[in-house]
Amino acid sequence: MPLPKKPETIRTVYLDNAATTPVDSRVLLAMQPFFAEQFHNPSALYRGGLRAREAVEAARQGCAKALSTEPDTIYFTSGGTESCNLAILGSARAHTQRTGRVGHILTTAVEHPAVLHACHFLEQEGWRVTFIPVDAHGKVTPETVAQSVEADTALVSIMYANNEIGSIQPIADIGRALLKYRKANGTLFPLFHTDACQATPELLLDVEKLHVDLLSVNGSKIYGPKGAGLLYKRRDVPCTPSTHGGGQERGLRSGTENVPEIVGLGAALSLVRQDLAHHRQHTAELRDTLWEGISRSIPRVHLNGPPTGADRLANNLHVHFDGVDEEALLFYLDEYGIQVGIGSACSSQEKHSSHVMQAIGQRTDGNIRFTLGRQTSEDDIAYVLRYLPPIVDAVRTMRSERL
Ligand SMILES: *Cc1c(COP(=O)(O)O)cnc(C)c1O
Repeated sequence: MPLPKKPETIRTVYLDNAATTPVDSRVLLAMQPFFAEQFHNPSALYRGGLRAREAVEAARQGCAKALSTEPDTIYFTSGGTESCNLAILGSARAHTQRTGRVGHILTTAVEHPAVLHACHFLEQEGWRVTFIPVDAHGKVTPETVAQSVEADTALVSIMYANNEIGSIQPIADIGRALLKYRKANGTLFPLFHTDACQATPELLLDVEKLHVDLLSVNGSKIYGPKGAGLLYKRRDVPCTPSTHGGGQERGLRSGTENVPEIVGLGAALSLVRQDLAHHRQHTAELRDTLWEGISRSIPRVHLNGPPTGADRLANNLHVHFDGVDEEALLFYLDEYGIQVGIGSACSSQEKHSSHVMQAIGQRTDGNIRFTLGRQTSEDDIAYVLRYLPPIVDAVRTMRSERL
């Protein structure tokens, strides 16, 4: 089969919202004054500085409210990667300061590279790391986590929702199990961190109910700016700073505050949390239509990860197309204006096969990730369902002709 005839006007359909989301126009508007007119350093004592400080603190309050916590537990960072690194390296160092020794970290085999590589870095310093295996749906159980805690476990770091296959982990139950362990043993450790970068637009984010000590949020996945993020750190949780300098962010993260990004993150987080139920319903409906259409009209496909339902992010569809070169499919879809992901955006540059697919025992080739967003429409999905089947057919034919 040849490629289908292109439409006269190519529609742009963005289905890679797990890589990053477009910035909400209200967020952009909120950020704008803080680049040029209100450019002042929030540490300055004249009125311009005080106004910048007020904007930063208002954003902090908004973020705290979204997480059902107090503003003094919110630390602004440069994004998900930095938040995860600060949580992991900071709590590990704090553990060493108290015990005089390196210790143990518990995490899963399907974490984002921001967590995996921070853990690998600590391994080079002598830390032991356990990467808990997951089931075929990419999930861990609270029992396995609790059983894997060792006497010197400083930190448990488990992502809330997976960025490739959308598996949702039972964070509140894990938190409760760890709390029980700490109470029974009269210890402060292990601390519990969750990477909530993918979970923020649709899952419970109440830090008390989740029983987490540390939680990472990212601006670029929630219709906010790239390069903005926050770390929630419960009061009295020990964590050493990532940067040393002027003492901003209560000494944990020195450096002049990025006022426009902080304002943007605050606006984006508040907006996305107000839109929670609608976002979930909207993306789930369209995602289900997309999967129905794909499974009806394209032979030899299967869904990777958990079934669509409570265990899976509402906006995530990760499909295996048998006999398809995923890069070829991605490039041809792009010719028709359809933008999708293969694995995770972060690892597509590294060119290695997905550790998540390996962990769930699935093929690492022929997989395409469709992640929907607030802006995805019925017409978008209809367009994809019109062009995807013949393009898959064409890519399969090209491949078999080449072989
Ligand atoms: C995107 C993402 C990160 C990293 O965020 P950056 O903005 O790239 O630093 C971390 N964890 C998860 C689950 C993510 O999806």
